[in-house]
Amino acid sequence: MIDLKNKELTFESCAVHAGEKNKDQYGSHITPIYQTSTYVFNNVEEGAKAFAHEEGGASHIYSRLGNPTVEHLERAACELETYGLKDADEYVGMAFGSGMAAITTGIISIANGKHIIAQDALYGCTSQFLKEESDMLGMSCSFIDTSDLFLVEMELKKNPNTALIYLESIANPTMKVSDIQGISDLAKQYGAKVMVDNTFATPYHLKPLKFGADVVVHSTTKYMGGHGTIIGGVMVAKQSFLEEHQTFVFRKNLGGISGPMDAWITMNGLKTLALRMEKHSSNAMRVAEFLEAHTVVEKVWYPGLASHPQHSLAASIMENGYSGIISFELKGGYSAGEKMMNSVKLCTLAVSLGTVDTLIQHPASMTHSVVDEQLRCEAGITDGLVRLAVGIESAEDIIADLDQAL
Ligand SMILES: *Cc1c(COP(=O)(O)O)cnc(C)c1O
Repeated sequence: MIDLKNKELTFESCAVHAGEKNKDQYGSHITPIYQTSTYVFNNVEEGAKAFAHEEGGASHIYSRLGNPTVEHLERAACELETYGLKDADEYVGMAFGSGMAAITTGIISIANGKHIIAQDALYGCTSQFLKEESDMLGMSCSFIDTSDLFLVEMELKKNPNTALIYLESIANPTMKVSDIQGISDLAKQYGAKVMVDNTFATPYHLKPLKFGADVVVHSTTKYMGGHGTIIGGVMVAKQSFLEEHQTFVFRKNLGGISGPMDAWITMNGLKTLALRMEKHSSNAMRVAEFLEAHTVVEKVWYPGLASHPQHSLAASIMENGYSGIISFELKGGYSAGEKMMNSVKLCTLAVSLGTVDTLIQHPASMTHSVVDEQLRCEAGITDGLVRLAVGIESAEDIIADLDQAL
């Protein structure tokens, strides 16, 4: 990272410059897209040393193992997630072809053969992976409400072979916030690791590593990429941690690394992360207040509202606002939600989030349709829940559109 001597670089400046390293051989201002599968060795010795990880070896071998453009994104993601940490130098980033590739590679490398304690309300595919596929991979998994530390400790006591506690910093889509520090302290006590999916909050609002988490993962498809143009993922953890769990080897052999083009597009997105999140979160706050005051709205879930069950916890661990995602329940249930989603004009009916435009969707029939119905309802993802990913249009226009649709 850039060293200003007497002054620490702000997060905003860090986002603009993150990952910058050496001057390119042609003086290219922006990191080029190294669109290549393989790399040329000057001689056999250089190739052999590269494979043996010895000094004097070629810096790159094959793009499933590493690629200069992908490495720029990895440095950038790492710098943002470790911003402000004293031991930031000990951390590294890894980029993946999707958020799910980052999540599954991380979970398999850390928890293979052991037990996982997972949050009950998770991103649909993460939940499906843990519920239906962990068994096949020799892992067991139990689901609990991680916002309740008592339940976390009970579950750790019940499962002494727990290797991993897995949660989302803001849980999809009920916006539940967990006490990451409390969970990390318990995990240490019981010999488990903590992995946090920080996709919804982004490091602009929340840095889980600061609160003792061991690993952070992201779907960069969302806010980090920011424009809805790529599918990607990143992971950030201590290098020694990733080496100990062979995560680099797992990524190489499972083959989930990001392609250079997607990494390059994501890097462009990261540069405006702070700027975009500031607008996403200030817009979302206004939209959440509008919805909460509306007569046809039953309930609004947004960590920035005083009515949110973990609002004070969110206020103590989040910075600069509460990100851009809101869930709400209409008084008329599913049919009212359906009618509303079919009536919006500015908002777009689509799954995903973190794009510059406002997206609206229905978790029960869309993103969370793969989740077991009972588990889904227990986690608060009811049939009438609508999820809004507030964009960076003007708040007035978003509110006017919702108002006419309601
Ligand atoms: C989208 C998303 C994922 C999955 O990421 P992909 O890039 O679609 O593979 C995981 N976690 C959360 C919270 C997400 O929103």
